[in-house]
Amino acid sequence: MVATDAGWADSGPRMGFFTDTSVCIGCKACEVACKEWNHVPDDGLRFSGFSYDNSWGLGADTWRHVAFIEQRHPAPGAGDGLPAGDGLPAAGGELRWLMSSDVCKHCTRAACLDVCPTGALFRTEFGTVVVQSDVCNGCGYCVPACPYGVIDQRKEDGRVWKCTLCYDRLKVGMEPACAKACPTRSIQFGELDVLRAEAADRVEVLHRRGVAGARLYGDDPGDGVGGTGAFFLLLDEPEVYGLPPEPVVTTRDLPSMWKRAAVAALALAATVVAAAR
Ligand code: SF4
Ligand code: SF4
Repeated sequence: MVATDAGWADSGPRMGFFTDTSVCIGCKACEVACKEWNHVPDDGLRFSGFSYDNSWGLGADTWRHVAFIEQRHPAPGAGDGLPAGDGLPAAGGELRWLMSSDVCKHCTRAACLDVCPTGALFRTEFGTVVVQSDVCNGCGYCVPACPYGVIDQRKEDGRVWKCTLCYDRLKVGMEPACAKACPTRSIQFGELDVLRAEAADRVEVLHRRGVAGARLYGDDPGDGVGGTGAFFLLLDEPEVYGLPPEPVVTTRDLPSMWKRAAVAALALAATVVAAAR
């Protein structure tokens, strides 16, 4: 559907990611695999001072980022009653780790793509959003347009970079490097509809086990970006992971703005013509 809307005649099913943070162990194998496969430059490893995270966040040179979030006092209802040994302290525990591998969301309605004046950003036949580095002119319009703060300019060359969902690998039938490297299957790649159904089942299982805070993020086609091609199972509120709770495609108001601008231009032209008579 998404790829067909973009003009692909023979596209297959939409492909994407389901990241189940409840089984992420924070090994950062996905970050390393992404850098290796895509030749993403080293951007230095520095501890943030807030946790054991040493790559800080997504950026031009970090296309996958595993957040390490320490919670001293688990939020009410989040993780309560999780059986011992599942990675979180039992109810009443003082500290738990939330780990989550973040990535470009490959939005259904992608503002980065809407504002790109050169066509460097495009929708692939898999329904993903990719930047062509040889077409990007470095204008940077897409950077503030992204509601998740994902796409980023590289200081050295001015162009923008982000996850391609391993477009080159998908084209030859391979799975993305990060998903391949993930040892716990926290990162799952596949047909989006299938992943959404599996994710809903997984939430039910976690709820039955008493993990009341488990919820999906980005799976709803009715949200402000039309749902995302990379969605998540979280164990707490999105804000805890640095994700916007109600993302909105930032180009939502562009059509009405252009309409008003056109009306204003016509009114101005009419006034000038009337004054010249
Ligand atoms: S998350 Fe940002 S960069 Fe990725 S597709 Fe959506 S708008 Fe574009
Ligand atoms: S899909 Fe490929 S480019 Fe995107 S984060 Fe994973 S390894 Fe990196």
